[in-house]
Amino acid sequence: MTTDFDIAVVGAGIVGAAIARLLGGTSLTVALIEARDDVGDGTSKANTAILHTGFDATPGTLEARLVARGYAMLGDYAAATGIPVERTGALLVAWTDEQLQTLPALRGKAERNGYTGCELIESDEVYRRVPALGPGALGGLTVPGESITCTWTTNLALAIDAVNRGVTLLRGRRVTGVEVGPDATRLTCAGGDVTARWVVNAAGLGADVLDGLFGHARFTVTPRRGELFVFDKLARPLAPCIVLPVPSKAGKGVLISPTIYGNVMLGPTAEDLEDRTATGTSERGLAFLLDRGRELMPQLLEEEVTATYAGLRAAIDRDDYLIDVDALHRYVLVGGIRSTGLTAGMAIAEHVGGLLGEALDLTPRPYLPDPPRMPNLGEAGVRPYQDAARIDADPEYGRIVCFCERVTRGEIRDAYRSPIPPADLDGLRRRTRAMNGRCQGFYCGAQLAALSGSPGDFS
Ligand SMILES: Cc1cc2nc3c(=O)[nH]c(=O)nc-3n(C[C@H](O)[C@H](O)[C@H](O)COP(=O)(O)OP(=O)(O)OC[C@H]3O[C@@H](n4cnc5c(N)ncnc54)[C@H](O)[C@@H]3O)c2cc1C
Repeated sequence: MTTDFDIAVVGAGIVGAAIARLLGGTSLTVALIEARDDVGDGTSKANTAILHTGFDATPGTLEARLVARGYAMLGDYAAATGIPVERTGALLVAWTDEQLQTLPALRGKAERNGYTGCELIESDEVYRRVPALGPGALGGLTVPGESITCTWTTNLALAIDAVNRGVTLLRGRRVTGVEVGPDATRLTCAGGDVTARWVVNAAGLGADVLDGLFGHARFTVTPRRGELFVFDKLARPLAPCIVLPVPSKAGKGVLISPTIYGNVMLGPTAEDLEDRTATGTSERGLAFLLDRGRELMPQLLEEEVTATYAGLRAAIDRDDYLIDVDALHRYVLVGGIRSTGLTAGMAIAEHVGGLLGEALDLTPRPYLPDPPRMPNLGEAGVRPYQDAARIDADPEYGRIVCFCERVTRGEIRDAYRSPIPPADLDGLRRRTRAMNGRCQGFYCGAQLAALSGSPGDFS
């Protein structure tokens, strides 16, 4: 069997892209294989986009360690690449006596996780910080380090960085079969087989199926749907920080958070399903969120809804990540990255690198390219339409196409000319924010569709 690559990473979500980027920095040949036509089109595109400190993780778990480490790593990487981050902080609000009594224990848990920034506050201070909260808040716990970011830019930056480092990105290649040979593994893929000496499984919701193709039967992924509301930008002053519920046995609960794009988000639900493709919202889920929202922040429900969406967490039947090396088959499983993978992705890659380093030479190559400089999608930073010098130098940044989100022709052009251009209009949305606003593409959709048909045609 001829070997195309030293390592194939299956799945180009945040986790797979981070692993491919790390391996791409060595002298190994690396493929990043993705079933869909674009990177970041699975769970990594539909989450709550919070950069977690890991204050509430279960102390001593691999997840607790990698979330804390990932928080620091992604924070640094964001500064280097321009991934937007807003250090809003979070406030856990207690609405019952029982919840109030839990807060000191939560602070203790945070400290056991190495996070010492939490403070207990009285109810009047809770309302001073978030005046729009509904009546009945009894007290709170601050988590000043919790931050908001852009999951789309993060995934894309990691994947572009990987490609710039020499990783071969293969999109539209679902792996459907595995044949492990003495020296290499053949992956049967739609669009052409790939052989590699080692395989890393970062297939998210599909990780158990791929694991099964390697002969294992050790876990099952249960898609846990999280539905969310996105409210109009006029609602943004109502949510100066992330408002978290006190977690219970039933889960983390419903939060209210500002988004990096200037909106406010309410959600997510947590519902175990069987269908791994059920990323639509449901009447029941949205009704539940409206009921919760009415209690948490009644004023928010008077604002207009911009969009609803849902994401599927890859939940497994254990309370930690499942990362394991099968040296016999030259295979690494990276499974159960349920609800913290955006934050932990880079640390997961580092951890996988540590495990693989026992079998492979992962010495970094000298003279790696600089990390990519990503377009700013954050509302708090300067966007091209606001940048007079940039418009002077290139008038395309002064020609707005999407008026809701103020996206210019220059940004659309840049997206199509980038190392990983969008495969469809949804991919364009994740790269530019076009069609992400109030009208959801009603006004700009046709123009963007025309541009996507002839992306080279920018006069
Ligand atoms: C509602 C919700 C809220 C969340 N909030 C947060 C948050 O605030 N902060 C945070 O840190 N995390 C959050 N998360 C978790 C985070 O989004 C995930 O942990 C992370 O996106 C997982 O990334 P991944 O790369 O493992 O999976 P994915 O992004 O799903 O990537 C896996 C990829 O593998 C591909 N694939 C699958 N099977 C195959 C195959 N056979 N062949 C080829 N390719 C294949 C898929 O197409 C997919 O693109 C949230 C998740 C949800 C659902």
